Amino acid sequence: MTVLTLALSKGRILEESLPMLAKVGLDPAGDIDRLLRVPSRTPGVSLLIIRPADVPTYVAYGAADLGIVGKDVLMENGSADLYEPLDLDIAKCRLSVAAKKDAPARDPRRRLRVATKYPEIARRHFAAKGEQVEIIKLYGSMELAPLVGLSDVIVDLVATGGTLRANGLIETEIICQVSSRIVVNKAAMKTKHAAIQGLLDKLARSGGKRK
Ligand code: ATP
Ligand code: MG
Repeated sequence: MTVLTLALSKGRILEESLPMLAKVGLDPAGDIDRLLRVPSRTPGVSLLIIRPADVPTYVAYGAADLGIVGKDVLMENGSADLYEPLDLDIAKCRLSVAAKKDAPARDPRRRLRVATKYPEIARRHFAAKGEQVEIIKLYGSMELAPLVGLSDVIVDLVATGGTLRANGLIETEIICQVSSRIVVNKAAMKTKHAAIQGLLDKLARSGGKRK
């Protein structure tokens, strides 16, 4: 029997993954609130429960054969070492630029200040428009930055826009749409081809879109 390890992004993506995993028999057979590694209901397939930003690393190094991770994380960290065969179409949102609703005009000689958890995506977005910006890296609660004058705008994930509105911010640009993807280790795709392909087929039948 081929042994497979699937790395799951804990938090929001895990919550939205569980129904799909259950459909294909890959739901956890253990306490995912406490354990970092649990068997799935399919013999030979075990699950890792890790932080979203760590999933590409586990898969790229082969510590996991496959992973479920947001497109935002893949875009920020690069995914050259990984295959990305399926779009699971879950945990959907978008990456956007947002600013204070009543922001005064900025002195054009000063660089735009952008607060974000996604410095690479933000830098690339503004560079593509020929704009050199000052990036301020934050780890959470980006909405606060423009309110207290830390930045002019933010680059952040938006789902309904409710959090932005509640904080007096408006979405000024959409950078891209985001959903969760299956990523696969390149070597494992060769050495465990049949087992991985079987799993991808099942996920594709349960709503995953082939890329
Ligand atoms: P950590 O616990 O390591 O800080 P996190 O805060 O990124 O992780 P979550 O907020 O649970 O973890 O999940 C974030 C992921 O969920 C994103 O990478 C994105 O792909 C997806 N996502 C979907 N909708 C949203 C949303 N409205 N806001 C934030 N993330 C979303
Ligand atoms: Mg979080």
